[in-house]
Amino acid sequence: MDLNNHPCFNAKMKGKYGRVHLPVAPRCNIQCRYCDRKYDCVNESRPGVTSGVLTPDQAMVYLDYVLKTVRNISVAGIAGPGDPFANANETMETLRKVRTKYPDMILCLATNGLGVSPYIKELSLIGVSHVTLTINAVDPSIAKNIYAYVRYGKRVLGSMEGAEILLAKQLEAIVKLKEAEITTKVNTVIIPGINDEHIEDMAIKMSDLGVDILNCIPIYPCSGSSFGMIKEPSRKMVSRIRNKAGKYLPQMYHCTRCRADAVGILGEINSQELVEKLQECVELPEKNYDDQLYVAVASKEGVLVNEKLGKARSLLIYGKRDGDIVLIERRKTPEPGNGLKRWEELAELIKDCRAILVSGIGNNPRKVLDGEGIDVLEVEGLINEAVEAVFDGHSLNYMIQRDIKACNSRCSGSGMGCM
Ligand code: SF4
Ligand code: SF4
Repeated sequence: MDLNNHPCFNAKMKGKYGRVHLPVAPRCNIQCRYCDRKYDCVNESRPGVTSGVLTPDQAMVYLDYVLKTVRNISVAGIAGPGDPFANANETMETLRKVRTKYPDMILCLATNGLGVSPYIKELSLIGVSHVTLTINAVDPSIAKNIYAYVRYGKRVLGSMEGAEILLAKQLEAIVKLKEAEITTKVNTVIIPGINDEHIEDMAIKMSDLGVDILNCIPIYPCSGSSFGMIKEPSRKMVSRIRNKAGKYLPQMYHCTRCRADAVGILGEINSQELVEKLQECVELPEKNYDDQLYVAVASKEGVLVNEKLGKARSLLIYGKRDGDIVLIERRKTPEPGNGLKRWEELAELIKDCRAILVSGIGNNPRKVLDGEGIDVLEVEGLINEAVEAVFDGHSLNYMIQRDIKACNSRCSGSGMGCM
């Protein structure tokens, strides 16, 4: 892998190497006043737009096709159509899968920075080498005019409080990214009348924090957004801002404001063939269970799903042979203690399982297992019935425990997962 072959970070490579954006992140955790996310517009070329949203497994099928048909793709990235860390499980699962299958691929992502910090260590381990943060102001009293709200944890914060939290998280993310030696680009949207006079101050702050490159992008007025009436800045304004900011940080001059499903050389429009392929992938099964042949079960006596994961000293592994559910083996679980490591070891132990059935599970193991693409089902009832339902893709609704504490409150939905 030659990290210099990233066409966005190295202008010399922009006509030689291409990138593919995998649109696996539909949700967002903030609302920028210039953003209007669309999912089906094939004619519009700007961030937030995609011809379809893919699951990690669908994205791998699409990526295989892209790499077979488009020459010189050096980078796979995740850039929406929402924010990668408002969809952290999908984002991390996709990155892991791409790294496993294509060890030489440059991995890249673009985020607003609100939720990235807890993942930076793992991003570095996976080998994500380039991260872009979009930061539009380093003064909350300016930022508050740019963001309608920020969703932080379970709270939705209004403009000022939201801007303060967002900025704090963005600055924290830069520090952590640089500690992890990840090349960090900051994108700043030039919004005339809002932040155009502030970008030099931003460049100074970004330079102090060790940011590698600044990309001052003219706003793309979207009629569906609150800033739809703001005019795109003139070339003169853009070049004046870049010259000022350029005193402190290298500037990117060749950004093409790509779609969330952009593919190929920068600036080229996605071919009809690739648009159709992406739409075809959306129709594929959401999950590909080819490598996940089994189902793991926590049980006290081997008849019922009736044990909490934290208490289980072993797990029963079930498979399907000639149409029948069969017990394959019993696997000893990692010893208690060791914090998250215990759950990471467990995920490794049952990585050939598509689901784990337990009568109770804490938030940490749930997150780790979910992140590894293993479905966690909190149920009670006969093992054979539950395992068969998993293999056949039937609902387990009637077995779902109604006092699930995954979100620290009783489930008010179907119990099949929180949105
Ligand atoms: Fe849109 Fe990105 Fe802003 Fe989210 S962070 S509102 S997807 S521009
Ligand atoms: Fe590169 Fe700009 Fe396109 Fe992002 S939006 S992939 S930085 S050219």
